[in-house]
Amino acid sequence: MQTGKIGVTTENIFPIIKKFLYSDHEIFLRELVSNAVDATQKLKTLANTGDFKGELGDIKVKVSVDSEKKTLTISDRGIGMTQDEIEKYINQIALSSAEDFLEKYKDQSNAIIGHFGLGFYSSFMVSEKVEIHTRSYQDGSKAVKWTCDGTPEYQLEESQKEDRGTDIILHIDEESKEFLEEHRINQLLTKYCRFLPVEIAFGKVTEWKDGKQVDTGEDKIVNDTHPLWTQKPAELKEEDYENFYRSLYPMADDPLFNIHLNVDYPFNLTGILYFPKISKNIEIQKNKIQLYCNQVFVTDSVEGIVPEFLTMLHGVIDSPDIPLNVSRSYLQSDSNVKKISNHITKKVADRLSDIFKNEREKFEEKWDDLKIFIEYGMLTDEKFYEKAEKFALLKNVDGKYFTFEEYQKLTKENQTDKNNSLVYLYTTDLEKQHSFIEAAQAKGYDVLAMDGQFDMHFVNQLEQKFKDTRFTRVDSDIVDKLIEKGETKESKLTAAQQNHLTPVFRSQLPDKANYIVTFEALSEDEQPILITQTEFLRRMKDMQAMGGGGMNFYGGLPDSYNLVVNTNHPHVLRINEELEKEIGEEIRKIEDKIAPLANNKTDLEKANKDKKDEEVKQEDKDRIEELSKKISDLEKKKEETLSNFGTKTKLTKQLIDLALLANGMLKGEALTRFVKRSIELI
Ligand code: ADP
Repeated sequence: MQTGKIGVTTENIFPIIKKFLYSDHEIFLRELVSNAVDATQKLKTLANTGDFKGELGDIKVKVSVDSEKKTLTISDRGIGMTQDEIEKYINQIALSSAEDFLEKYKDQSNAIIGHFGLGFYSSFMVSEKVEIHTRSYQDGSKAVKWTCDGTPEYQLEESQKEDRGTDIILHIDEESKEFLEEHRINQLLTKYCRFLPVEIAFGKVTEWKDGKQVDTGEDKIVNDTHPLWTQKPAELKEEDYENFYRSLYPMADDPLFNIHLNVDYPFNLTGILYFPKISKNIEIQKNKIQLYCNQVFVTDSVEGIVPEFLTMLHGVIDSPDIPLNVSRSYLQSDSNVKKISNHITKKVADRLSDIFKNEREKFEEKWDDLKIFIEYGMLTDEKFYEKAEKFALLKNVDGKYFTFEEYQKLTKENQTDKNNSLVYLYTTDLEKQHSFIEAAQAKGYDVLAMDGQFDMHFVNQLEQKFKDTRFTRVDSDIVDKLIEKGETKESKLTAAQQNHLTPVFRSQLPDKANYIVTFEALSEDEQPILITQTEFLRRMKDMQAMGGGGMNFYGGLPDSYNLVVNTNHPHVLRINEELEKEIGEEIRKIEDKIAPLANNKTDLEKANKDKKDEEVKQEDKDRIEELSKKISDLEKKKEETLSNFGTKTKLTKQLIDLALLANGMLKGEALTRFVKRSIELI
């Protein structure tokens, strides 16, 4: 028997392994099973090349737990090791400046383990003692047993082992008892070893017999050695992809599309990506792609490897070329990873483009679910935008879909304003903005439905990309002004009459928000009153609501709306007539009093126009002040009279409430009163 010290530069590496690699103890199983699989595959290769002439026989890797002895054993019938090989591969671990490195990467056990080829030694994270029983496949080789109890001292001795291959026996330590539990091992094998290329057996297949489950004596295989992504796309059916998806994500809805990746130059990458059906909360959909390295599960956090917008996809990526055992920041600057990321983006775009070209109907059918990916991608990835602009769709309120080009053609003629800007009308809420949509449609305009999660940003982006095009929400102005064509209509109300009506309408406005009363000569079959909010102000407020920085000024403003009165609408004219009848005389009397006073004041002001303040006679000053006061008192009286009239006329209130109602802004008590008043009016 030989004893020796494992060739590490630090005195005792094991406490360090144990101490620092706390976060991912469980990966030891992945490392040991992968080693066993590697050894098995090497033997298969040797058999293929004729260098191994014996019987391969049963080459399953077997995992077993002995809860009494507190051991976990991983056995393979691979190439095994000779004593020299143990010396070379197990005893000499090159750990230059190991401690420094461990300190730096203490939270990234993956990084450490891979970096040093510490795969096997990760077993010490969970064991107080590890034994290797191994016998090389080579003719005449002797079995050896290596034992180490977690100090740098090991024992190496000849032993008895009939069969070729290796058994790794872990004496699980007190704190790691969980790894003696069958369900825990099952869970780990499913997580890390589910798609390994050599059969892994753990436990026995059971069957129902005499009222209970009993072992059949047949090994239970935990993995699928030929996962779908390793197979040829030409030989697979849609159904196979769907089944595979279901096996990966049993709880998810069926996916929309899949993409089979298969690259061998300039890097190796296979995989299948799925467009999932997105639920309301996209965050929980993220980072579901599983990353494999030669069928060994590595991680399901793929940030940095696939572009951010594609982290919403599901599926698997398998590549031996992704440097898996390095830090994330390194990953992001790695040129191979960049290439891979670009490649995936391109593949995704190509696939979508194919579906669009060949199966447009299907594409449109799924657009509502797809849109979130595509918009997100277009917003965050310029390269993707360039490809996607040919197949991205715009949907109008009638549920029709158009490409950007088609939509431009559709609207160009009717929706170009007098400044040659093409105006795209959109709605963010088909219900709330219904009356505006209808008015726009009545004018022959098309209205886009932009009610998705990213649509607001998307509208901004498209506005920047499209030449001479602007987006305007359908309720941001009266329909005639949404797309100004330079036509003006005759108004049936004079400026003076409009002036009288302003306080009348103002008297009935709700006081929660700011309203500016304006008058427009619209067609008589349009609404009598409309409430609009300018596109600019609304966008600013929206930005603020979304937490855009530096927007406090706009966000702090109270809501501000335009109350637009249609000066040609019969109801408005009726209010005007009533006003004339009831208080016309009174108003005229007040105005007749104001006129001479105002003239008088203007004359005096004119006469003193060029004088300095001290040159103006006190008498004139007093007179001007007196006149101002009288005028302002009379104006006030006039305003009061008009307001009083306003508050008495039910029709005014009714028209305003109807406009509020059309905007979904009439609520609570105001709504109740409106209903009552409506009944009275009927
Ligand atoms: P890595 O697998 O990264 O090379 P390990 O520490 O896991 O690092 O293993 C070191 C070496 O020990 C392997 O490269 C292999 O040559 C040998 N080895 C480990 N496990 C086995 C095994 N089950 N059968 C044969 N050789 C093995």
